[in-house]
Amino acid sequence: MNAIVENLIGLDLRAEIDRLRKERNAVILAHYYQAPEIQDLADFVGDSLDLSRKAAATDADVIAFCGVRFMAEVAKILSPEKTVILPDMDAGCSLEDSCPPDQFAAFRAAHPDHLALTYINCSAAVKAHSDIIVTSSSAETILSQLPADQKIIFAPDRHLGGYFARKTGRDMLLWEGSCIVHEAFSETELLKLKAEYPGAPVAAHPECPVHILDHADYVGSTRGILDYVLASDSDLFIIATEPHIIHQMEKAAPHKTFIGAPGADGNCNCNACPYMAMNTLEKLYLALRDLTPQIEVDEPTRVAAKRSLDRMLEMTGGVSGPDVGRPKL
Ligand code: SF4
Repeated sequence: MNAIVENLIGLDLRAEIDRLRKERNAVILAHYYQAPEIQDLADFVGDSLDLSRKAAATDADVIAFCGVRFMAEVAKILSPEKTVILPDMDAGCSLEDSCPPDQFAAFRAAHPDHLALTYINCSAAVKAHSDIIVTSSSAETILSQLPADQKIIFAPDRHLGGYFARKTGRDMLLWEGSCIVHEAFSETELLKLKAEYPGAPVAAHPECPVHILDHADYVGSTRGILDYVLASDSDLFIIATEPHIIHQMEKAAPHKTFIGAPGADGNCNCNACPYMAMNTLEKLYLALRDLTPQIEVDEPTRVAAKRSLDRMLEMTGGVSGPDVGRPKL
């Protein structure tokens, strides 16, 4: 048995986390892709940027970010005076990994006439090398404000960039990154599911490849998908994004049914994010108890990254979500 788990046997983890939350004056954030038991004890559940902005608006001394590393970095960028802890420092992201800062800086240098629009799913260092950060719900609004002849680099997600290129007609230079979770959906299995449940709308995240988005009735951010299914008259949906968002859907609309879109083996569980799954109640308890692991962002990087984030907020009237995701054209 794992020594850490063994030491915690007998502890009422939820009660202990609650005690430490008060003692530390901590705010606990949970991304929509976290396990239900973490979502249920968090102070805020949501998309990454909204969580960081909500935490920044509190008087908490500690932010416990149950999500992945780049999200906790955003919290630190917005709240440098707060202690930011991540239950597992190995909770990374395939999109972040696909865009090493030195390679991105070299790519930018090779295209000096291009503006770099960078999806928020990247490291603080890549944000610092970017001109404007975008989210899946703000990218279209930002693109609509850029001159038609402005050359653009879109990084790191080629599927998200491709989606917005098709939707807006912009010719963008796409970085070749991707999310392993959203790439794993199977078109063949999705079509089988659609045949089994005719009439069930498909809601998909734009990190999915085009062969999945082509079958979607709605394409939008995670929050956008949540809003869509709650507002829709339908009682049955096929959801093509990380399946833990379904927990919030079922809580908000218990009379509706949500089916996770399948991966290649027909099992939707293969689309659970392995990085998000690294966070557990045990690790959250230990992080609050020991105030480690802590997120640090050096000040020059933080200031440069914040400038790119602030440009997005200025161009969206401070609204980074909820959502400007719209039904597919
Ligand atoms: S779901 Fe994809 S983009 Fe989100 S944290 Fe996991 S690997 Fe990264």
